[in-house]
This record gives sequence, structure tokens and C-alpha cells, in this order.
Amino acid sequence: MRFSQMLIPTLKEAPSDARVPSHVLLVRAGYIRQVAAGIFSLLPLGMRVVHRIERIVRQELNRAGAMEVLLPMVHPAPLWQESGRWQVYGPQLLRLRDRKEFEFALAPTAEEAIVALVRDDVRSYRRLPLNLYQIQDKFRDEDRPRAGLMRGREFIMKDGYSFHVDEEDARREYQNMYDTYTRIFRRCGLDFRAVEADTGNIGGSLSHEFQVLADTGEDSIVSCDACDYAANVEKAVLRRQVGEPPDTSATPPCSPVHTPGVGRIEEVAAFLQTEPQRLLKTLLYIADGKPVAALLRGDRQLNEAKFRTLLGASQLDPASDAQVRQLSGAEVGFAGPVGLAVPLYADLEVVEMGPAFCGANRTDYHLQDVVFGRDYQAQVADLRVAAAGDPCGRCERGRYRHHRGIEVGHVFFLGTRYSEPMRCEFLDREGRLRPMVMGCYGIGITRVVAAAVEQNHDEHGIRWPMALAPFHVILVTAGLEPGIGEMARRIYDDLQVRGVDVLYDDRDERPGVKFKDADLIGIPVRITVGRKALSDGMVEVRRRDGKLDTRVPLQEVASVVSSMVQRELEMGVAGA
Ligand code: ATP
Ligand code: MG
Repeated sequence: MRFSQMLIPTLKEAPSDARVPSHVLLVRAGYIRQVAAGIFSLLPLGMRVVHRIERIVRQELNRAGAMEVLLPMVHPAPLWQESGRWQVYGPQLLRLRDRKEFEFALAPTAEEAIVALVRDDVRSYRRLPLNLYQIQDKFRDEDRPRAGLMRGREFIMKDGYSFHVDEEDARREYQNMYDTYTRIFRRCGLDFRAVEADTGNIGGSLSHEFQVLADTGEDSIVSCDACDYAANVEKAVLRRQVGEPPDTSATPPCSPVHTPGVGRIEEVAAFLQTEPQRLLKTLLYIADGKPVAALLRGDRQLNEAKFRTLLGASQLDPASDAQVRQLSGAEVGFAGPVGLAVPLYADLEVVEMGPAFCGANRTDYHLQDVVFGRDYQAQVADLRVAAAGDPCGRCERGRYRHHRGIEVGHVFFLGTRYSEPMRCEFLDREGRLRPMVMGCYGIGITRVVAAAVEQNHDEHGIRWPMALAPFHVILVTAGLEPGIGEMARRIYDDLQVRGVDVLYDDRDERPGVKFKDADLIGIPVRITVGRKALSDGMVEVRRRDGKLDTRVPLQEVASVVSSMVQRELEMGVAGA
């Protein structure tokens, strides 16, 4: 393609609301334009990157035995009422009405639609297993769309669903998809981790997220430095055993201390001239309408996902200030476990704390010398967020390292969460009617675009991995002499014959402008034909990642560059 004929509207300035590199660079380099909050158009360059990703995804999924379909994006409400999600999905679901006042949803995912398809056409165990996927726009009315393509409201997702006769077969396919995702993200040239994930309230028990490692990621993940365990911190296990509690036989009975106006942990610790570790933090929550309290060491964070799982609650929210006042009988900041009339749940570490300070359930007062088991009782469990340096909960030898990640894919064992209520059933060998066992598998195609940029950029622009680059090579002319254009056209033709995608910057611009744009757009290899080529027949070949900057004879450049490109693309496939 010729630059002069393409729509590549590069900009000097980033949009004022763009904070993360991928948002800034994808807009500045002319890949995307915002239409409304979280809603974007893809320009020709953006579309080419999306096609690269989709091609890898299709190749690997088809190879793994999955079949592509295309479901509608507009789903009738009765379908969603069957699964119960019409009632529980909440404000992320965009609901609409047609001219006859029938209600519809814009699909945020498609479990209902795929189940409706399969249950009508698959009746026998002989037709199972089945793995169907689609690549389609999804809509989620996100509370805070942000970071460009990273968290949009409308975005492209690959969503896949598999159907099985039993759990064992569903688990086999889960592993098949796990391996397939690993190949897909390797071929994309991304640095990623597959991590254990919380299954949330979708139900199901087995779930992995594929996380691209990047400082700007929203997700927090830990990995063990000794074994291969890695998990989202929402899920990451710590140890299951309580350590030895310290001897508190000589501890005096607990007694109140006056702490006027200091309610926050750090303030209380400073006021009492102690460490936050010596304080007991009491957090009041409402679980499915009932009050509960979580107890943690003062310097620790509650892991709400673990707490919700322990309680078996579908809804868990922090108590409001008014509820805290009502439950503790004191201002916010002075709640404590002693005499608190709600079910108490303590993190493992609480048992090991020894005499502690905690709120007295009385405004402006704390208690000192509070001892677990003596002054209060609680159910003990692993409730806190894993942090860097914590011992690994899996091997118990290593320690956790902390990373930030961008969730680009998700594999999920669903079980019969949808097939049971929606009666997606088959006749087994013995002629009995049974619900199919399901798995679901997502990839955020447009989020992969953003994640790739987060991981591959510098101060001048994007640095695409070869497999995702919109073009493999950018060919730049520097100088207006007719001989220069002629040489460039010859290289351009030669590269195209060899199957290399070339963007030919034939614009009537100064070389400096062209070089700046080339760096911004981020194409992996740049060939420059300048005046010197007229005299010595040498052209410049420079890689965007800085690994190569050399001069090559005009006659050889197409073959040298095309084998470089091919080698890199094949390496990606072989490595996967
Ligand atoms: P998140 O936790 O980031 O909100 P999710 O768990 O809701 O994501 P899934 O339902 O698992 O996401 O969707 C499958 C994939 O779709 C995700 O792994 C992610 O890559 C992508 N995705 C989800 N929400 C968005 C969004 N708002 N914008 C872009 N991609 C998204
Ligand atoms: Mg997810």
C-alpha cells in the first residue's frame, strides 16, 4: 500500500483524556478514533492489526477442533430470562426495545444464544463433544470505560463454548483450550502468564486468565519464585494452616483506651505508639442482606472474593456508614470483635497476633490486650490479599512475586450453570436425558491490540511484534530525485512478490517527518532509499526495535528483508 493513498491520520498531540501509552499511541498513530466514551472506530491500520490477531486465533482454534459460527448480537429478553441473567446482570447489560415494545439485550457474552442453538439441534451423545466459537462485537455498558481499547463498552471478543457428555470430557477440552490459548498468545509475540482466577458468581470451579504483563495492567497477579503456581491476587492461596498462637497466659484482661477522634488504622497506630501489625482491623459487610465482619491484621487487605466464596454469598458489599453505626453502636473507625453481635470471620494471621488493639464499639475508644479465643471467637480462614514476599500457598517453599497484568483471555469450566436451567440436554448411551456439561473461552481481540502496545513501545511510538504489525516493512524515500522513486518502486514490487506486506511512504514530505511517522506507527523494519543510493547503490535497513541498523546493496535488499520477516514469523509459529 502507498502511504499517500491510505488513511493514516497521525497526530502530534495525544487526546487530553488519554493516560496510558496504548491509548495515546493508537490515537496518535492513526489506528483508532473515539466516537463516544468507550466506543471506537478502527482505522485501516487498526483493522489490519485486528485481522492479524483474528487470523492467528482462527488458525489455532480450527486446528484444535473448534468451529466458527456467528450468533446475533441482539438477543431477545426471554432467552436471558431462561438463564436468570436478565434479572441479575445489572447495569452492564444494555437493554433495548423494538417498535413492538419487545425487549432485547445487546450481547455482552453469548451463553444463552449458543445454548439455544445447541439444544435444538443436538440431542444425542453421538453428536458430542462440540466446540463452537465466534468473533463478534460485544457490548458492556462499563461503569468506567478507560484506557482506549483496554476497557471499552463496544469491543471485539472471540467467545467460544464447548458441550460435553460429562465433566471428565469437559476438563479434557478445558486443557485443550488452555494449550491453544498458550499457542495463540505465543504466536502474537506477547509476554504473558496463565494464572488461576476467581470464578466469581458465574459459578463453575476451574478458571484461568491469560494475563499480558504490563505495568499499566488493571489486574494484580502473583507468581511463585520456586514452583509454577501463578494466580490473580483475587484467587491466590496463602497457607491453609494456622501457625502456633503466642502464649497469652500472662496477658492482663482487655481494657479500654481513650482514642479521641482517631479511627483510621495508621492514625490509631501512631496515637498508641505501636505498629499497624499490632492492630486488629474489623470490616463490616453485608452478605446477601445479612451483616458479617471480617477481621484482619491492621496492615493487611481483605480479599473480597475469598470472603464471598467462604460465605457462599452471591452479593457482598461493604456496610454503609449508617449500617456500621447501627451495627457497632459507634462512629466509623471504632468497630471491634469484642461483643459485636454479627458472625465473625478471622484471617489466619489474626490467631497468631497475640494481644492486640481493636475498636471498642464505642466512639473514641479502643481496647488493648485483646486475645483471640479468650475475648472473642471467630471462624478462621485465609481471607487476605496475597502480596509480594508472602510464602507460596501451593508449594510452601517459594515466595510470591507481584506483577501487573492485562487480562486478554479467559478459560472457564462452566459445568451445567446454563444447560440445566435452559434444558440443554442429550440422551446418553443408556437412553437417559442429561444436561450437557459446558466450558466457555474468551479472548478480548481489541484488548490484545492495546496490551501488545503497552508491552511494546518507547518514547517515539509503537514497536509491534512482527506477527501483529499492520505491515512488516515500511519503505521510505528520502529525496525527490526521480531515480530514488524508481529504485523504491522496484524494491516495493520485489517485496510484494515475496509475500511481504509493505507500506510505501511515497509522500512528498521531508525525511524527518516520514521517519517520525514510521517510528510512531511502529512497523518492525524500515528501508530507506536516499540520495546516497543513487551513487553507491546501497539502501538503509533499520529495525524499529534497535536490533539492526545497516546498509544493504539495492539488488539484495528485498531478499534479505523478506527472509528476515519470514524467519521471524516462522519462529513465532515454531515457538508456539
Ligand atoms: P474484566 O475482568 O477485565 O472486566 P471479564 O472477566 O468481565 O473482564 P470475560 O467475561 O472473561 O471478561 O470476557 C472475555 C475477555 O473479553 C476478557 O478476557 C477480556 O480480554 C475481554 N474483555 C472483557 N471486557 C472487556 C472490555 N470492557 N473491553 C475490552 N475487552 C474486554
Ligand atoms: Mg474474566
